[in-house]
Amino acid sequence: MPQIAVCKGCGYVIYEGVELKSADEIIQMVGGRCPKCGKKLTFNIEDVEISS
Ligand SMILES: [Zn+2]
Repeated sequence: MPQIAVCKGCGYVIYEGVELKSADEIIQMVGGRCPKCGKKLTFNIEDVEISS
């Protein structure tokens, strides 16, 4: 089952894949901001919702 990280601001799927990543890895992948709504993502796990 893939890991899915969703922006809490707009629901955009920031990361989806079978490789498990930590929230800070995912945030760094997109340069610290949601590509869709531009919401600044922090290293706080609450800004990235991860379900598996
Ligand atoms: Zn967003």
